[in-house]
Amino acid sequence: MEQKRVFIKVEGIVQGVGFRPFVYNLAKSNQLNGWVNNNSEGVYIDIEGRHEKIKTFITTLKDAPPPLSRIEDIHIEYRELEHYSDFTIRVSERREERITLISPDMSICDDCIQDISDPNNSKYRYAFTNCTNCGPRFSIIQSIPYDRDKTTMKSFQMCESCLHEYHNPMDRRFHAQPNACSSCGPHLWVTDATGTPLMVEDPLLWTQDQLSKGKIFAIKGLTGFHLVCDALNETAVQKLRDRKKRPHKPFAVMAKDLEAVKQYCFLDAVEEAVLTGNRKPIVLLKQLAHDGVPKNIAPNQKTLGVMLPYTPIHHLLFNEELTLLVMTSANITGLPLEYENESALQHLSSIVDFFLLHNRDIYTPVDDSVVKVVKNEVRMLRRARGYAPEPLRIKNINGILALGPTMKNTFCISKGDFLFPSQHIGDLENLETVLHYERNIAHFQNIFDFKPTCVVSDNHPDYATTSFAEKLPYPQIKVQHHHAHIASCMLENAITDPVIGISFDGTGYGLDGTIWGGEFLVCDYESFMRSAHLSYISLPGGESAVREPWRMAVSYIYESLRHSLTVSEIEDSLCQLYGNKAIPVMKLIMKDVNCIPTSSMGRFFDAVSSLIGICHSITYEGQASMELEAVLESSETASYPYTIEKSIPTYIIHTDRIIRGILDDTKTGYDKGVMSAKFHNTIIHFSSEICSLLRKDTGINKVALSGGVFQNNFLLEKLSNVLETNHFQVYTHKMIPSNDGGISIGQMAIANKRLQTLK
Ligand code: ZN
Ligand code: ZN
Ligand code: FE
Repeated sequence: MEQKRVFIKVEGIVQGVGFRPFVYNLAKSNQLNGWVNNNSEGVYIDIEGRHEKIKTFITTLKDAPPPLSRIEDIHIEYRELEHYSDFTIRVSERREERITLISPDMSICDDCIQDISDPNNSKYRYAFTNCTNCGPRFSIIQSIPYDRDKTTMKSFQMCESCLHEYHNPMDRRFHAQPNACSSCGPHLWVTDATGTPLMVEDPLLWTQDQLSKGKIFAIKGLTGFHLVCDALNETAVQKLRDRKKRPHKPFAVMAKDLEAVKQYCFLDAVEEAVLTGNRKPIVLLKQLAHDGVPKNIAPNQKTLGVMLPYTPIHHLLFNEELTLLVMTSANITGLPLEYENESALQHLSSIVDFFLLHNRDIYTPVDDSVVKVVKNEVRMLRRARGYAPEPLRIKNINGILALGPTMKNTFCISKGDFLFPSQHIGDLENLETVLHYERNIAHFQNIFDFKPTCVVSDNHPDYATTSFAEKLPYPQIKVQHHHAHIASCMLENAITDPVIGISFDGTGYGLDGTIWGGEFLVCDYESFMRSAHLSYISLPGGESAVREPWRMAVSYIYESLRHSLTVSEIEDSLCQLYGNKAIPVMKLIMKDVNCIPTSSMGRFFDAVSSLIGICHSITYEGQASMELEAVLESSETASYPYTIEKSIPTYIIHTDRIIRGILDDTKTGYDKGVMSAKFHNTIIHFSSEICSLLRKDTGINKVALSGGVFQNNFLLEKLSNVLETNHFQVYTHKMIPSNDGGISIGQMAIANKRLQTLK
């Protein structure tokens, strides 16, 4: 029997996730002797025994490690036999200066669900049950190393029974830092809307009962507060909308189980896997056609954002009658997610009937993540709980702080071959969110022991990130918004060659001081050429044109008719569509007062949405284009004519004929879904034609798709199919959002390349 000894170094998320007990059990079951420990580099394993068994050990280690671990690297080294007589877990070596990878907050595991369901278990119905395979992590960590006294659990003393679990290497809760039970850990209570505690026997049963009666709750969860009501109670949902002053933006729901999801939505295998996995994001699913959830949950949408329970609290809330709950982030519109009891009581009292509170503090609030599945791939829309702060591994990307964009902000830092994108931060439009942003940057610097050598930000002169960057004492790099979009897609797909980048979004500051957003860039990481774009159009009245798509429609109509009709003829057709209010807007455009030129694809979608009669003013970002996509008749293959002008070195896509085509269709009384499809098809046609022209000019055959407009499923799917049919290699986003949530990662990629070139 050949005996061997192997020394293994494992790097990655391997601490605080039950790695050592797992190794211990694996070694024992393979009759291997030696030891395992935690240290500054990760985990060291020294094993000896039969060679066959060692191979099995290594295969299992690689293929089936503990659920929360993430192995980045394994070094294996054969050594001289040491003749160990047993297998032991050795004391941790002191950590020196080194990156500690921190696990995201994870969904309750099946074993813990068993525990809370078992009347004979010490965790029976205990709302804060967790183990090394599940529960809070990132959101409760105040500093590193990850030990209980550096988390918000430090105020709770473990009881004897919990301590026993904590110290037993064979227990699932061995070194589970947030371990607790009802006799020693955090607890729940309910209050009325004014914050006065209510004396109830079981806060969860009481909450369940009140939810069934149509009451609205703010519930403190794992990483922040949710606003919650019975999703099948249309009146309750409407009451929540009215009180929150949120008339249209879709609410996410939480379903009791898969069966409840399938009652309302289509579900394919990929969707089911991400829905039931241990990260538990909100998954955007297609609703079943028959009368399902109340219309006011997701007005004018065919999709529904659904997640499954991910904490003991959630599991204990549902029952036979209560199977679907509205579960939406609790915040005042525009402000960060509520996560502290006092602040929530102050801000949410006019919205809710009751609060369900607890005393396990959240240190870092993290929103729910949002994903969807397109072309059989999970696509990230909002990367937060369950994903952040997991890093991307990128070689040689040291010491940069990327500040991100102003809307849908994330920032990221890079250290020692890792890029750490932050969780979704939000729109940096008010002091509260900017403070939340700065606090999170400071926290990342602390937990990853990070000191930047360089800071990168958007080239927009007025962004909050720009003024923040200028306060910092580091060398500055500026990056154009759409270049950052494409670079983020290139980085995600590990592309090193130049690409044709299609960057379609709402707003980004252009190099010429205008607002870009319908851009074709020929680029690498270092620089870009703006090779084609949508023709410029006036953005009448700046921000009001974004909130009121009908103003964009006026702008497009005027532009498309001004060469063929007189001013009064144009006025007539505008009045027919929009009444007299259209005239002053047209005057603004004609006199070029308070009008910025834009090539934005997002605004083009807005204009068409209004022109077709779908959405004239919005109450949430993206509403007009989302509703335009929702009505789309996908079997329609026709399109509108367009013109591509070559104005060296740039191609310009003129939209006049597209708009005139739509105007004609509206007069003929065409179906909205058909017009929407024809419009989408037109975008796909000219995009594909531009790519062919650019391939002829440059020889580049790789196309990267990025920007918020690619959250449109039809466009993403059909355009990439058409390009692939034309033999392009097409790259799209998966784990990095195509919207502005990915900008900081693109900024990082570009800054890194420029720094390397300087060296
Ligand atoms: Zn667990
Ligand atoms: Zn206890
Ligand atoms: Fe953008």
